[in-house]
Amino acid sequence: MSSALLDEAARIAREFDYPADQVNHGVTEYIKQSNEGLAQENTTLSQIPTFVTAVPNGTEKGLYLAVDLGGTNFRDLFTFLARQIEAFLRIHHNEHFEAHLRRRRDDGNHVVDLFDLGFTFSFPVRQCGINSGTLIRWTKGFNIPDAVGHDVCALLQSAIDDLHLPVRVAALVNDTVGTLMARSYTSPGETGTLLGAIFGTGTNGAYVEKLDKVTKLQHMKDAHYDTSSGEMIINAEWGSFDNHMSVLPTTVYDDELDADSNNPGVQMFEKRVSGMFLGEILRRALLAMHNNPALGLFKPSKTSKVSLPSDSLFYRQWGLDTSLLSQVESDTTKNMVDVKAALKDHLKIEHPSETECQAVKILVHAIGKRAARLAAVPLAAILIHTGKLETDEIVDVGVDGSLVEFYPSFEAYMREALREVPQVGVAGDKKVRIGISKDGSGVGAALIALVASKDETLRNPSKK
Ligand code: ADP
Ligand code: MG
Repeated sequence: MSSALLDEAARIAREFDYPADQVNHGVTEYIKQSNEGLAQENTTLSQIPTFVTAVPNGTEKGLYLAVDLGGTNFRDLFTFLARQIEAFLRIHHNEHFEAHLRRRRDDGNHVVDLFDLGFTFSFPVRQCGINSGTLIRWTKGFNIPDAVGHDVCALLQSAIDDLHLPVRVAALVNDTVGTLMARSYTSPGETGTLLGAIFGTGTNGAYVEKLDKVTKLQHMKDAHYDTSSGEMIINAEWGSFDNHMSVLPTTVYDDELDADSNNPGVQMFEKRVSGMFLGEILRRALLAMHNNPALGLFKPSKTSKVSLPSDSLFYRQWGLDTSLLSQVESDTTKNMVDVKAALKDHLKIEHPSETECQAVKILVHAIGKRAARLAAVPLAAILIHTGKLETDEIVDVGVDGSLVEFYPSFEAYMREALREVPQVGVAGDKKVRIGISKDGSGVGAALIALVASKDETLRNPSKK
């Protein structure tokens, strides 16, 4: 069985090949779709104006609150968040909080000293100002239909007001924008950061765009923002790049994952790149080999004592966590100790043969590498589109998320694909500096709350 198994694993792995010509095709198409998104609404790349018009340089100071409602941080909705804020204030700022409560008792109309809060909400939101925006759709497996179409800042503010907390929701922040701001705050040197990118549960990016390229802003009558920098951060929502599948690669496993998801036909780029999905792609590919009687993957036989219990997560949709891929990819031992440990810990699979471990490794590598090479597409496109490659300066990029942080060689494979884009080439190795901006979304939210609290046009829009 062994060579048939490895042959089949290699055949499936080849289906995940994403060669240089396809990368370049993807880049061209990304630039096209991103220009469409800057000009009009309801395009596949949303290109959402964030109304954040400057990046920090590291000198900013102040006391601000941040709440991060992202992927795995998500538990319940706004009342829960308000209660968490209350608990935080009682523990860390109790004096201020008590003083506020006393003042409220003395005089209901008292204008109090409010904490400004940056609210990281990492789902597609149509923004019309720095602290307001309506939810366009849920992603990453969430689905609470009531919230779609509502202003998520207003929802949080009203839950906060119900608890009489001294807190003003000053800024609505996507985690990518937070990552960009936090990286810009901490990155070495004076150059601001161009791009913040997330490769975690989902994938997305935010970058600094010239205001005059964001032509759809001209049609937003209620929009108010500071024009002095001539720039605005754009939340690309690149998880939805190429939803109509004009250039994205696909396999039968991708197609089935999508068809069985709660949002078929959308987030098609994300479904090939991010942590929520890679484990499920792998599970489906392994399951196909398991169900193929000619291969007998993970099936006991005369020569194999492998065991796979019927309650294993191997049989459950979304049951295979992407951290297994990192564990497998990082195994350099001869008898694959780490692969075996991963199969046991995650899937209760015991005593797999080394050939079976080898087959798992081949598939993991193929799926992980395709994801990392796909990740290079928006990165190269934004480098080209913004003209930053033609300047003399280092281009700084901040990244965050478990996948880019822990999957071995994610950045290396991404850079390999970047090099294959002629406009970037080997020069990109030095020119493009990529740095982890760990948990940047929280720090970034506080930084945006700071920027927002200083902007008079936002406190009092009629003054603009
Ligand atoms: P979020 O994106 O929700 O803010 P993370 O950046 O931690 O949070 O990403 C969580 C995602 O990363 C999950 O889909 C999880 O399966 C995946 N993940 C967690 N640990 C690892 C790892 N070691 N290697 C690769 N993926 C991981
Ligand atoms: Mg995160």
